[in-house]
Order: sequence, then C-alpha cells, then structure tokens
Amino acid sequence: MDYSFVFEGKSYYIIVKDNKTFYMDESENILDSIETSELENRMFNYFNNSNSNSQELDNAIQNNPNLTTQKEVFRQFLKYIEYYVPLSKREEFYEKIKTLKYQNSTEVESIQKDFNIVGFYSFENNTITINEEAIKEANQVSFNYGNAVYLATLFHELTHFASSSYDKDADELFNGFNHYKDNKIIRSNNGLTEGMTEYITFLRFLTESGCDPELIEQVSLRFTNNGYFFTSLFVAQLCILTSPNVVFGSYFQNLGIMPLCKKLSEIDPDINNAFKLFATIEIDFKYRTIEGFNNINDIIGIIQMQMINYLKKAVKNDIMNNKSEEEIRQRIDFFEKKLISEEILKCKNLNINDYPKIVESIADFQNFKDSINKYYQSDKQNMTL
Ligand SMILES: [Zn+2]
Repeated sequence: MDYSFVFEGKSYYIIVKDNKTFYMDESENILDSIETSELENRMFNYFNNSNSNSQELDNAIQNNPNLTTQKEVFRQFLKYIEYYVPLSKREEFYEKIKTLKYQNSTEVESIQKDFNIVGFYSFENNTITINEEAIKEANQVSFNYGNAVYLATLFHELTHFASSSYDKDADELFNGFNHYKDNKIIRSNNGLTEGMTEYITFLRFLTESGCDPELIEQVSLRFTNNGYFFTSLFVAQLCILTSPNVVFGSYFQNLGIMPLCKKLSEIDPDINNAFKLFATIEIDFKYRTIEGFNNINDIIGIIQMQMINYLKKAVKNDIMNNKSEEEIRQRIDFFEKKLISEEILKCKNLNINDYPKIVESIADFQNFKDSINKYYQSDKQNMTL
C-alpha cells in the first residue's frame, strides 16, 4: 500500500515496492528511496541530520536541568514543533521548555488505564510520563530510545506540550481544541485533539525519516483501540477540505473548532452539518473508551460519509467556480488516498466486512468519482462537436 500526506500545502507520497520505499512529491518525482531494511537504521540516526537555527530553543534546552540523557532527542523534536508554535506563544513555549520534566513510569497505565495509553503529559507538573515497559511489551523487542514506538509516543506527548498552555492562578487550561476554566469545560473536542496530535506525529516521522507503512502501522498500534489512527486520517481529509493552515492554526492557537466550522460552511452553508461532524468525531472518541461498546465500527463510517458529503459539495463548488479539471481531479485523488479503505483496515488486522458503513462510504465515493469522470468525458465530447 502507499501512504500520502499534506505538508505545508504540498502532498507527498510513500510507496513500497520490491523491498524499497519511495518517497515522492506530488509530481511523482522521487525525492528519496531506501531499502526497507534500512528504515529502522534511519529512524535511529536521523537526529543527526538537521540543524537547529533557533538560538532561543537551544538556550531553553540548555538551561533545563531535568532532561539529561535524551537532551538531543528533545531538541530535535522541539525544533520541529517550534515551527508550528504561533509567534505570540513562542516566549511561553521557551519558558515551558526550561522546566519540562521526563519520567519513565509504570504508573502511567494505571493513571490513564481507561484510555489504554503508554504516554501522558501532565499540564500541572509540566511532565511527560512514558511507560517504557509497556512499549517494550508492545514491540516484543528489547527497548531502546531509538525504538519507533517510543519515539512516536514521545513526539506525540511533546506535541501536546507545545499545543497547550496552563495558567495555575487563573485555573485555565488550553489544550489543542480544548479549553477549560475553573474546572468547567468551555469547549472541548478530545477526539479531534488526539487525531491532530497523532497526525502531526505521523508527519514528523514521514518527512524526516522516510518511514514505511509498516512502521506507521507499528506506531499507530501502540493504541490498542485504534482510535487515534482513524481520527488522524479524518484530520488529513479535513486538511484537503479546508486547508492545513486552518486546521493547524486552530489547534496550535487553541481556537476551538469554530474556524473549521466557518471554513466548512464555505462549502456547505448549513453550519449545523459541521457541528454534527465534529460531534460525531467526539462521540467516536468517547465510545472507544467504553469497554464492550459494539457500535463503534459504524461511527467511523458515519464520519467518513460526512467527510465525503463535504468533498462532493466542495467539488461541485469548484466546478461552478471554473477550477481546472486537473486541480479538481487532484483534490479527489488526494482525498481518496486518505480514506479509511479495505487496505488500511487490513493493515491493522481489521476486516472491512465488520465495517458496513465504511463499505457504504467507499461505494459512495466511487460512484461520485465515476460521475466526475463521466462529467469530464461528456464535456470533452461537447467541445469536439
Ligand atoms: Zn494524546
């Protein structure tokens, strides 16, 4: 299978063929190709490959007395994330880096056992906790700090760190799309927050290490309930429907879902459909944490259907606004690559027959694609007449 993603408005592809992994841009120029067996090696060595140009970040890391053995890993990851942190929050970001703590604890699973996670970021204590033992078990290999699951977990938690701000005196917390004050929820969408955090995690590993789908699978499998992985694909779909700027901007500036709803209402003026979409994403997240809840398979199909409905309307608008055929087809192709498909489910050992709504959504998408093909064929015929 191949994998694609949008970064800074451009699409990239990763294709595995004959034990080689190809990394391509949208014009199908091969940017890089490596032996699949070399991927772990790359994963371990890529820290050495990039330069930091932010002196302030370097200083903050240098001044942190808590991060000892892994300082370089933290520096590289934070340097990548720094780019996304809005300028107005950079000062706060550097200050927080100075007091950031890391701990390996088996406690994390008991703290967060409902969510079945291996890593945790505490806003109150500015501490990242990772259960190295659980990672070892999940991988069934001896643990090291170059291990893909460990690195992805650490990066995921650092993304939470960078996309949150906590004011103890005001009792106010901003975390991705969530906002709490005086112990009350002002707004929250934990599903979208986690999906976004995971999407950024994938981007980091894809762009810097050229990692392969198997590695993505491995990375995403650290969550036994699969939820973050699917939501990260929905986030990728959202980037195509709206724009990466709006999606990343809302998350890192803690603006909630309103900017996204507004952007989606440019496609479909009924803003209730946008609220419904984000509510369904949150419901999916909530139900994943309830053991024995069986209708969960339908929910991701329902979300995908809602996304496809937006795509159809967006394409219709594009046609009305005289966008070129090439541009329109490209949008549809990019979207298709990010659908939860039979292949994606298989890659996570899941059977598409257990997901009737996904089957339905894929059929719906194919019908739509066929109708677009017919539209352009008939158009061409008319032109030759
Ligand atoms: Zn998380």
